[in-house]
Amino acid sequence: MSPYSPLQSMKQSVWDVIIVGAGPTGGRAATHLASLGHSVLMLEEHSEIGRPFQCAGLVTPKALHEVGLYDSILEEVDGARIHGPSGTLVPVGTDGKLRTYVVCRKKFDQGVVQQAMEAGATLWLDSRPVSADITDEKVTMMVESEGIEISLEAKLLIGCDGAHSWTRRTFKMGRPKELMIGFQAEVLGFNGKDRWLEMYSGSQIAPGFFAWVIPSGFGSHRIGIWSTADRLNGRSVEQCYDDLLKHPLWKHRFEGVQEVARYCGPVPSGMIRKPVGNRVMLLGDAAGMAKPTTGGGIGPGFKQIKGILHPLSKAIDEDKLSEKNLKSITSKHFNAMKKDQDKARALRNLLVSDATDSELDKHFENFAKPEVLKLINEIGDIEKPVPLGMALLRKVPAFRKLALRAGTRLLFR
Ligand SMILES: Cc1cc2nc3c(=O)[nH]c(=O)nc-3n(C[C@H](O)[C@H](O)[C@H](O)COP(=O)(O)OP(=O)(O)OC[C@H]3O[C@@H](n4cnc5c(N)ncnc54)[C@H](O)[C@@H]3O)c2cc1C
Repeated sequence: MSPYSPLQSMKQSVWDVIIVGAGPTGGRAATHLASLGHSVLMLEEHSEIGRPFQCAGLVTPKALHEVGLYDSILEEVDGARIHGPSGTLVPVGTDGKLRTYVVCRKKFDQGVVQQAMEAGATLWLDSRPVSADITDEKVTMMVESEGIEISLEAKLLIGCDGAHSWTRRTFKMGRPKELMIGFQAEVLGFNGKDRWLEMYSGSQIAPGFFAWVIPSGFGSHRIGIWSTADRLNGRSVEQCYDDLLKHPLWKHRFEGVQEVARYCGPVPSGMIRKPVGNRVMLLGDAAGMAKPTTGGGIGPGFKQIKGILHPLSKAIDEDKLSEKNLKSITSKHFNAMKKDQDKARALRNLLVSDATDSELDKHFENFAKPEVLKLINEIGDIEKPVPLGMALLRKVPAFRKLALRAGTRLLFR
């Protein structure tokens, strides 16, 4: 990929859209908008795309087919072997029936951004906003690019700048409901079942959430965990990872693994209060779009822009980008995504995050029953966890009682 140097394209200081952040969401938004004829500039603070790497690399078939980046695939996964706190195993999936892909995030992100450039968008690396001023007429920005300060103008500013979004903070657009902390190590020497990933639960290793072991090609695996600061109660995610490796039930599986890299990063989940303002919009992690059930943020970022594309493009053409207009374009689609996210979180809390280890053990005993496992395999979909959660509450007597006890206003709304 050969990005334009800002010096080369300095003559162009006026753009239809400036996107802060050239991750998967920024790249995808730029591809769509440039394909529709808009002039788009992507600003990326790093000097290369796809680094630093903070991801397990799971990409749903829907998101992968949308971009067709098949050369980024490292592994195909047919299912997950999920372990309860005391060891009850629930295998979800079917051999030979693909559930998700594992990708090389660097290749994937670079491919997405390359597509944006092929569609006509411009990329400035080593570039970040310094300030932005928004009036009814335009967006004016000072940008620092390769050490030079440049003044730019745009009709619309889109923040795709991740969990700690500068755009979100600058325009005081709210905070994601939850910020999970993820930790991951890339290891060699783990022996897992071919085409299956492993998940481990329990308060000692992943309070309220789960740990994972994901095959990542060429004999390596990604071992990770995620949780929230309040649930970690003073412990670090690295301590949880160490506890997983030393856990009496699982330690034999990790003997001899050799660590080659470590990463840590945030997972923002829970759409922010104000995803649009006057001539400004947030997408992807910046807007808190990661899934509360899996932490997956790539698919939701793609879905968020795709669902508003044509009315947004028309509004850019007509320069009708007031907060009121942007709200009318986005609210139906964004609210539906938020409602789904809220339901998924409520189900997750009910069945996993708010359960004690002994309650979770009982849930696993229920999950492992043949008729429940059949239901999970029939309805289970990584992309749409809500229908499965609802079916479990409706059809499995033990979970129905639990839902009634907890009060299900949110779930059945
Ligand atoms: C440990 C871990 C594992 C995960 N596993 C998965 C997984 O398996 N599958 C999945 O779908 N998701 C996963 N996620 C979440 C996923 O990584 C994010 O949801 C996804 O990257 C969001 O894409 P994005 O483009 O919105 O944001 P990002 O990928 O964060 O991209 C934002 C971009 O903006 C740039 N940027 C930030 N600030 C500025 C600035 N001021 N100026 C210029 N550029 C800026 C950044 O450098 C970056 O390139 C995981 C996250 C963690 C932490």
